[in-house]
Amino acid sequence: MSPGSTVARAARAAGLVLLGAVAARAHHARKSGSADRRWFDMSNELLVEADLAGYFTRLSPAWERTLGWTREELMARPFREFIHPDDLATTLPVARALDASPGEVRELENRYRTKDGSWRWLQWSATSDRRRKYAVARDITERKQVEQERQELLAQVEALARTDSLTGLPNRRAWDEEVQREIARARRSGQPLTLAMVDLDHFKRFNDAHGHAAGDDMLAEVAASWRRALRTNDVLARYGGEEFAVLLPACEADEAIRLLDRLRDATPRGETCSVGVATFRLDDTAASLGGRADAALYEAKRSGRDRLAVA
Ligand code: GH3
Ligand code: MG
Ligand code: MG
Repeated sequence: MSPGSTVARAARAAGLVLLGAVAARAHHARKSGSADRRWFDMSNELLVEADLAGYFTRLSPAWERTLGWTREELMARPFREFIHPDDLATTLPVARALDASPGEVRELENRYRTKDGSWRWLQWSATSDRRRKYAVARDITERKQVEQERQELLAQVEALARTDSLTGLPNRRAWDEEVQREIARARRSGQPLTLAMVDLDHFKRFNDAHGHAAGDDMLAEVAASWRRALRTNDVLARYGGEEFAVLLPACEADEAIRLLDRLRDATPRGETCSVGVATFRLDDTAASLGGRADAALYEAKRSGRDRLAVA
């Protein structure tokens, strides 16, 4: 027996021992692997594992029912390709943070693309062991839809509460908020601001001559044509009855008066109106500025109507 063959035998023996250890570990891994595969496949939950390259490596069957893709399809592309583009900015940093703090569980919501092109909202809990991410998701699409419908309804109600139904213009409540906002802006920016009160002349007479319904039509028509006479950022509101209010931001007094003359000229059906104008001063409140415009309107009426008076 050569020394070489002794060494070879010893090496072979050592190798077997080593192989055995590896095989035993592999066997154990296979066994536990198949055990949690069973849990995985049995679960109605949306369970998933992903690798560091950003691919799903394992998905529970519930995914196929929820998103319509087969598990093979879901594993064939990076998972980010299934995420709504608007949700990537919130999702990807969390996905990265998971691997930076293994064992920590993080929560997140995002939308996933279904096979038919629609989106499902998912609420995630996820963790990582640095090699893989493990996550469970819940389909919260219905809850999100209810939430969104409620918000849209609320926005509609809020818009209605600020709108005059006859003319479609901002109402008194919206006007009060708008004046506060524009006064604050003018004070900050140092830009000029003009407030005007506009009242139809002898509108009682118009009603008496044509009837109240025709009066209503007239008010709607007045609102539409005055609105067209103003600039986009000017505010025209129905202050009450046949009285309207105008805010002209960021223009000097003579430009404001030119705009208000254009508004007066736009009054339909040969009717006329009177206008009281006040220019914002730094110490003005909404009440003091509006009060001067009111006084000027009173002056315009008193001195004969169909005219504009400046405070
Ligand atoms: P003045 O030139 O002094 O403003 O005269 P006036 O007749 O316009 O003013 P007055 O305040 O005496 O009367 C306002 C009229 O506006 C009476 C009221 O019936 C009418 N009016 C107010 N709101 C409405 C409305 O929503 N629809 C209709 N059809 N008329 C309205
Ligand atoms: Mg009037
Ligand atoms: Mg009036």
